[in-house]
Formats: sequence, structure tokens, C-alpha cells
Amino acid sequence: MKKEISELIEVSQFYGKQKDYTLGGGGNTSYKDQDHIYVKASGHSLATITGDGFAVLDRKKLQAMVNKKYSDDPQTREFEVKEDLIASRIHPDSDLRPSVETSLHEAINYCYVVHMHPHMINGLLCSKNAKSAVGDLFGDKGIYVPYTDPGMILFKKVLKLVEEYREIYSLDPKYIFLQNHGVFVSADSVEEIHELYQYIDDQLISVIKERLNISGRKINPQAQDQMKILTGYLSGKKFINYRFDSLIERFTSSQITLSGVLKPFIPDQIVYCKAYPLIIYQSDSLSLNSEDLERMFSDYKKQHGFNPKVVLFEKGPLVAVEESKKSTDLVLDVFEDAMRISYYSEFFGGPNFMSNEQIAFIENWEVEHYRQKIAKSI
Ligand SMILES: [Zn+2]
Repeated sequence: MKKEISELIEVSQFYGKQKDYTLGGGGNTSYKDQDHIYVKASGHSLATITGDGFAVLDRKKLQAMVNKKYSDDPQTREFEVKEDLIASRIHPDSDLRPSVETSLHEAINYCYVVHMHPHMINGLLCSKNAKSAVGDLFGDKGIYVPYTDPGMILFKKVLKLVEEYREIYSLDPKYIFLQNHGVFVSADSVEEIHELYQYIDDQLISVIKERLNISGRKINPQAQDQMKILTGYLSGKKFINYRFDSLIERFTSSQITLSGVLKPFIPDQIVYCKAYPLIIYQSDSLSLNSEDLERMFSDYKKQHGFNPKVVLFEKGPLVAVEESKKSTDLVLDVFEDAMRISYYSEFFGGPNFMSNEQIAFIENWEVEHYRQKIAKSI
């Protein structure tokens, strides 16, 4: 194996294993030489990735996609793009599907690209002051990209901003900050990738001062009763799991604090947790019974078209509702990540959620659904 590929695997696993950087199948990495790009395949987890988890693509074919005319209909367009990505593989028989963010990796000239959704930087990128704070903390080291639906449109926007940056500075940006999404960090060596991530951390800590310190909590007797009723109501239908700690306690303590997590911050949150949690306020839950739950679940389904994956009790725990026991842990992790993002956003003017249109685009996005399906099976 080429030394560069072992380094790519090493750096992928290093960040992939840390929940502070990415969760589930999220995030992706790549290495490129003159002719080929090795990019994480959809559905593979960075934490455990090996050489077999990277799709190898012909860069010339990818570059040809820039000027190709695709359909104006978003769903058709993304399907066509996906087909072209697959057709760019140098091993056509391989069943590896290149990450949907592959084109973004190709847009940057550095050899290594490590894209993550770290909650601390997302605290900034999902805040009201995202743009100005990126400017203050990172100056001309990178570019800031206002939220754009993922896929071809995002790629075109990033490419334009990278080209403008190149024009001014005669080099590529080391950082690409995507609003309500995450960061692309790029360099010609893995050492520099580590230095660049460390710099992000140092800059954020200069504002935040102290990292969140989360400690375990026990739920109160009333919440225990509510959990029993919820467990009974869902038994035989769904798997549930709950978590309670100082961060969850902070967000579920009142209607005001709950408003900090009512809507999603980043596309991955919608993929794993659905866009909206079902909230059971204290006024509803004092004498909660299964008929109340039946009404709440069916109102939720009527409004959104699907069952909730996350239930939050005011003054109680965070609950995951899933098809399998295993998936509940990921739902809890991803939703607690959203709480961290919300917490850190307070240092930058407060939370800025995705808009209803942006949420709808993700909900309809077949590519994401595919990834979710694969992520569950590994
Ligand atoms: Zn991403």
C-alpha cells in the first residue's frame, strides 16, 4: 500500500474515532495524486475504515462534471450527478459508492482533505454570528460558505469561492467553513491537517474559554413514571433508550431552554434523528397515560408524516425511539451533539437553525436516505 494511503487511513480513523469530530457515517476524507482521488465511500464509517473503504476515481472525469449540463429538477439532477460519480470510478465492478461530497474534495488542490462535523466549530457555524465570527477568528486562512443545499449546487458555490480565493492569494484555502454543516480542512501533509484542526480548537477556546463538562444525572421519580408509561406504550412496536446528564438537564429544564433544540442544526441531524423532536411538556405529563401518548404520537405523525425518533420530556430525559436497540445509541449521540452545538452557539449570538425549506430538501433527498440505510447495516 502506498505510504500516502496508509496515512489517509490513519488520519481518517484518528478523527473518525472521536465523537467530538463526527458521529455515525458522517464526515469524509480523501487523498489525491495527479490522476486519481481516493475518497471515502458512502456508508463506511471513518472510525474503522481500511483501504477497501475508499473509492478510487479518475480526476479528469470528475473535472468534466463541472461544465456538464444537469437537469433543473433537484432530485433528477442529484441522481444524474450520483450516476456520473459512480461512472468516474477506475474499478467499474467495485460496489463502492463515492461520497456525495466527492466533488468538494476535488475542488481543492491539496493532497489531503479531512471533512468533519465537529460540534464545537458547529456551535459557531450554527450561530447567528457565524459569518462575522469566522472572519474574526480565521481571517484570510479560509472561506465561509453560506448554507446551500448539498450536492451539485453546493459544489458550484464552493468552487466559485475557491477560485476567487486562489485569484487573490495564489493558493488554495486551508479551511472551508460551511454554515450549518461543518468544516473542510486541507493540506499537503497529514501533520499539517493535525496542526490546522488544533488551530481551530485554540481559536474557539479563546472565545469559549472552557469546554463543556458533562456529568451523569439520575432522573427524578416523576420522570421514571413517565418512562414506564412510554415504555409500555411502545412495547412491541419500537425500541427505546434514554439518557440523562447535566447537558440534557440544562436543555429540558424549561420551555425556554427546550427552544434551543426544537429544530435541526445540520443535515446529518435530520438523517439520524428526523427534523423535529416530540416534546412532552410538564403540563401534559403530570398525569401522563397511554391515551395521551397515543394522541401525541398520532398528532406528530399527522403533522410530519412519520413517527418521532426523539422524545424530550420537560424536566426529564432525552429518549430515542428506533427500529432496533443498536440504532438508539446513535440517535442519542446525534441529538446530544445538537445540544452541544446549541450550547456553544450561545458564545456567538445564539442558535441559528436550518430553515423549513432547507429541512424539506434534506428530507426529500434520496442520497441521504441511502446512506442512512447503509450506515444502519454496518
Ligand atoms: Zn458533511
